[in-house]
Amino acid sequence: MKLFIAIDLEGITGVTSERDTERDGPAAKVARGHMRADLDAVLEGCFAAGADEVVVCDAHDDGRNLDAADLPPRVVLVAGSPTPYSMLQGIGRGYDGALFVGYHARAGTAAAVLEHTWNYKVFAATLGDLEVGELGLGALLAGHFGVPAVYLSGDDKAAAEAEALVPGIVTTVVKTGITRLAAGLHSPDDVRARMRDDVARALRAADKPTPLAWNGEPLRLTFTRVEFCDRAAGCPGVRRLDGRTLQIPGADFEEVYRGFLTCVRLSDLGE
Ligand SMILES: [Zn+2]
Repeated sequence: MKLFIAIDLEGITGVTSERDTERDGPAAKVARGHMRADLDAVLEGCFAAGADEVVVCDAHDDGRNLDAADLPPRVVLVAGSPTPYSMLQGIGRGYDGALFVGYHARAGTAAAVLEHTWNYKVFAATLGDLEVGELGLGALLAGHFGVPAVYLSGDDKAAAEAEALVPGIVTTVVKTGITRLAAGLHSPDDVRARMRDDVARALRAADKPTPLAWNGEPLRLTFTRVEFCDRAAGCPGVRRLDGRTLQIPGADFEEVYRGFLTCVRLSDLGE
């Protein structure tokens, strides 16, 4: 069994503040410790269920949050940035499942810890009437390669988003969102025991979720401000629908995803 894990920081046990998710400082160091402990619990669940090989993508910010020290021998850590697939670098054909660890709800979700989509410049991303965040975009790219999204950990809003998007996905709620910057934190030891059990249960299930299929709609990407859209609007093939919205087409979802990444990266230039 070969598995892919994308691990972000905002949905990790104990994380509630942007001080935790910055690159430096004492809070950032504590948060990275929690990130590694959550990953270790998930890896234990993977190996308990019979995993042979696990590729882990460090998906937060510059991809330099995890230390490879003491990782089990059958784990490959994808670290650093930029990469062609960003948060999903390493995904492709041949995996038995994709796991999303430390994930957060999409931009605009109420009472969701550190909600956003990719960067704080994206207001919304939609495919027809389906609104997607980081989980949706990731699960669709995994689905493009025939890989089912089998597991997510994060706050209660991220778990609800996952269950609505992917019927049958197993989730572990690690905290309960009160506002964007406040949460009820659950005991880390208890959370990690549940993570181990939930991951093993997800991987042993006879009927895993079906790989998520793209609905064929172009991606509509709305930024929070016109100037962010101005930076990305020249991307070839992209149509500007209004001051803040781009329409990104593609022959398949992989192409849509690459177009989305390019536009988001362009929106970040100039600062
Ligand atoms: Zn994120």
